[in-house]
Amino acid sequence: MQNNTDFPLLFEQTKPGRTGYSLPPLDVPETDLSEVFESAYIRSEPAELPELSELQIIRHYTALSRRNYGVDSGFYPLGSCTMKYNPKINEDVIRMEGFSHVHPYQDTKTAQGALELMFDLQEQLKEITGMHEVSLQPAAGAHGEWTGLMMIRALHEKNGEMQRTKVIVPDSAHGTNPASATVAGFESVTVKSNEEGLVDLDDLRRVVGEDTAALMLTNPNTLGLFEKDILEMAKIVHEAGGKLYYDGANLNAIMGYTRPGDMGFDVVHLNLHKTFTGPHGGGGPGSGPVGVSEELAAFLPKPVVRRQGDEIILDENRPDSIGRVKPYYGNFGINVRAYTYIRTMGPEGLKRVSEYAVLNANYMMRRLSEAFDLPYTQHCKHEFVLSGRRQKKLGVRTLDIAKRLLDFGYHPPTIYFPLNVEEALMIEPTETEAKETLDSFIDTMLEIAADAESHPEIVQEAPHTTVVSRMDETTAARKPILRYISE
Ligand SMILES: *Cc1c(COP(=O)(O)O)cnc(C)c1O
Repeated sequence: MQNNTDFPLLFEQTKPGRTGYSLPPLDVPETDLSEVFESAYIRSEPAELPELSELQIIRHYTALSRRNYGVDSGFYPLGSCTMKYNPKINEDVIRMEGFSHVHPYQDTKTAQGALELMFDLQEQLKEITGMHEVSLQPAAGAHGEWTGLMMIRALHEKNGEMQRTKVIVPDSAHGTNPASATVAGFESVTVKSNEEGLVDLDDLRRVVGEDTAALMLTNPNTLGLFEKDILEMAKIVHEAGGKLYYDGANLNAIMGYTRPGDMGFDVVHLNLHKTFTGPHGGGGPGSGPVGVSEELAAFLPKPVVRRQGDEIILDENRPDSIGRVKPYYGNFGINVRAYTYIRTMGPEGLKRVSEYAVLNANYMMRRLSEAFDLPYTQHCKHEFVLSGRRQKKLGVRTLDIAKRLLDFGYHPPTIYFPLNVEEALMIEPTETEAKETLDSFIDTMLEIAADAESHPEIVQEAPHTTVVSRMDETTAARKPILRYISE
């Protein structure tokens, strides 16, 4: 038997009778479970659980947590993911009993504080996006996309425009966009980018038509570039009878400066777990609220959280609603964090977020362009994309650069995306990092570029200092070892 771990193993240390807890003496009558449940559901033998002391368990989990990499442990420039700092005041607020102990089946009259927070957050997001109504129900960005598209679909159906079956998606879009369009029952059609990295208007005019349900646009796009012809694009799509969907997952580039509603968009989703500091990564709970124009408001998921007199109610009486998209009312814990963040920053603070996000990205982009190719040279917004093609000629791939960054304690950027850039490295520094952090990351990247020229093998064979060295990704995918011990 081979131990794949170097930290205390729970099952191997087990000693019958050892305990890590002490419960108070039983002060209620003992019940025979067979009187309450069907016998098929009752265990015939006790579960085989490890028996350990509290200290042994603490060491195990502390060792595990040290293996984890997060924003609290180091710089995390993962493009398109906005791995910004999660302020600790958010955690204080969500731990308040009225928020952490509220129950979804509680009478709404006894949960007015929680409902008021949801209502106020909706109002704040309306102001930030320039939309008419907002729903907090979707649990992630992609879920918001799907919800938005289902509303667009419901609108076209109500208007008898069943032929609108196509959703136009630029080739630079986030991968979730065409996927959501497909899951919502549409066919996704690609529109090309031009040599500036923006949507090619002629190509858009060519693909738009009677069958267009919507255009889905990420702005700034995944190259970190603002679509400057956005009003013209809105006009082209609206004149053809299509709707405009705004992927606002990365709103930290424009918040306080411009709004999807003002650009003419009909639906937008936001990622509260990105721009609005919900902790994320590792599939943790997200929140992808959708905002809609007046025309689409009737189709919002129900129940709708709204004010009625002095009370906040959960309105189920919405005949045109697409229905519920999530059990209960969305990921409330992330809503509380986003609300706290918005109230902490205030309108001026949110505007400064955008300024610093854009400033940090441009600073880093210019300094790194000394050693890496920059395919699109105009100013970027919150992120930018470099190409590792110069290093590839020396035999060092973008994957090698990403692995080498691990030796220096950095989470690598997003790599090989977007697809329209060869050997792409997509970097998003975020506004929460100090200049010293940006500088040391830049210096490391420049050092790696220099190593690629003088002794490439140190980059090609990286990582050298991590617990696990370079993985054989094909074998990892084909023959995964799913147990922590292999025979
Ligand atoms: C992250 C992201 C999404 C998807 O959001 P999830 O919460 O991961 O589903 C969609 N679009 C863009 C531009 C993103 O950055």
